[in-house]
Amino acid sequence: MKKIFTVLLIIISLFVVGCGKEKKETKYNIVTTSFPCYDFARAVIKDVDDIGVEMLLKPGSETHDFEPTPKDIIDIKNSDIFIYVGGESDSWIDDILNDIDKEKTKIIKLMDIVDLYEEEHVEGMEEDEEKDEEEIEYDEHVWTSPVNAIKIVNSIKEEIKKLDSENSDKYETNGNEYTNKLSEIDSNIRDIVNSSKRKELVFGDRFPLRYFTEEYGLTYRAAFPGCAHETEASSKTVAYLINYVKDNNIPVIFHIELSNGKIANTIANETNAKVLEFNTAHNISKDDFKNEVTYVDIYKKNIDSLKQALN
Ligand SMILES: [Zn+2]
Repeated sequence: MKKIFTVLLIIISLFVVGCGKEKKETKYNIVTTSFPCYDFARAVIKDVDDIGVEMLLKPGSETHDFEPTPKDIIDIKNSDIFIYVGGESDSWIDDILNDIDKEKTKIIKLMDIVDLYEEEHVEGMEEDEEKDEEEIEYDEHVWTSPVNAIKIVNSIKEEIKKLDSENSDKYETNGNEYTNKLSEIDSNIRDIVNSSKRKELVFGDRFPLRYFTEEYGLTYRAAFPGCAHETEASSKTVAYLINYVKDNNIPVIFHIELSNGKIANTIANETNAKVLEFNTAHNISKDDFKNEVTYVDIYKKNIDSLKQALN
């Protein structure tokens, strides 16, 4: 009887181990926090078997509410390269940075790679009551500018080349292929902005696109700043945006990805504006993750919406 039980146990444990092995073992591994970090690394390591990349954030979930599991922390410590954004949403990382063996794990922080802007409050926006006025807070959404995305991909590429010099040529080619696509997106956006009379975007939502609008000389109105936790706007904010859209004949009111679009819809109902999504690539839906949708794919869609909004 005992023997049968032991055999059964072995079979069960083999089964469990087999099922748990979703990720293939690779010689090198990269751990990333959120979608942009993941996407840029994935593009560089394309078709190289010796290296893998993992995203800690669950597809479809809210980036700003992310809390690491004990396994996530272990994965970070065991990684060869750890990539994170570095803003307020990533403040939990400050607590573990000292525990990471920097000889083993190379750390890349996106906010160290590009020039930073402070978080901004524009007219009509909901006040952030938790915010300490004295404290300078930099806007963490650095990846939303395709020009920044190019710089970030190049930095990630150089670190991966150092890690696995045997495949250096492959990483160089992959990285260049991706930055070429990003350059094309950048010039498409410039063409649209240059040929449009309107130079302004209106968001019935949070606004994580400061780096984007600064890059292309656009202005904006929005219900909340980039990382606000609120999703319900006051009637004062909604009324301001409705009047703004009416007064300026704004054709498109945006909401961001994975948002309920409630404020944008309310504004659209009171005006002639139509509602479109601007995907800021914070996170990605489960289906899009499975289908390996990229930042480039997302921005191609954004370009179509942008064209209508600046019309
Ligand atoms: Zn954010």
